[in-house]
Amino acid sequence: MIKIEKLNKVYENGYEALKSVDLEVPKGALMSLLGPSGCGKSTILNIVAGLLDPTKGDIKFDGESVINKHPKDRDIGMVFQNYALYPHMSVLENVIFPLTVGSNKIKKQEAVKIAQKYIDLTDISDIKDKKPKALSGGQQQRVAIARALVQNPKILLLDEPLSNLDARLRIKIREEIRSIVKKLGVTTVFVTHDQEEALSISDYIALMDKEII
Ligand code: ADP
Repeated sequence: MIKIEKLNKVYENGYEALKSVDLEVPKGALMSLLGPSGCGKSTILNIVAGLLDPTKGDIKFDGESVINKHPKDRDIGMVFQNYALYPHMSVLENVIFPLTVGSNKIKKQEAVKIAQKYIDLTDISDIKDKKPKALSGGQQQRVAIARALVQNPKILLLDEPLSNLDARLRIKIREEIRSIVKKLGVTTVFVTHDQEEALSISDYIALMDKEII
């Protein structure tokens, strides 16, 4: 499903963050990228999402190169460490937002109907009308997950989504994430530096390390 070939990234300051990364994520699988801080996990995720250009190499989805595709045309949902919710919108407005903008936008009423499935899956029905600042970290992360899934993406990318949560909540939410992505069958890449987290959530683990100079 996702095929990363000889991926290389040199940042503008000359730092080579990725030398030559090869990786395959099978369709419907949940793969963790596990490695210490600074080894290049987010760099890979951002290149897959199209938020960052690679220096060399290719990324294919279902055999088709996506390197020249705009992020919004890649059929990806993304969840970040800091949730990145829109503070002035309610939970419901945050979740439906991706459906109500862009060239394929639909009416709010219709979007709300579609969103209901994801609101139920992430168990945020009772906080629908609240603003993000009135929510706990775990609730905010559930909203971010619902928003990432509402367009029914082929691929879900999660960048350290649990790192701002306390230990108990981290375990709970990671189990919820696994259950949700397995129910939907969405191909998922999960970035973490936590070995136990990777072992508990993943079908596959790609182990990364920093080059020792
Ligand atoms: P990880 O997600 O594994 O913590 P990153 O992909 O964020 O690692 O970063 C990999 C390396 O690239 C780090 O050493 C980081 O400092 C460096 N890096 C990240 N972004 C930039 C940038 N915009 N310019 C230069 N170096 C960067």
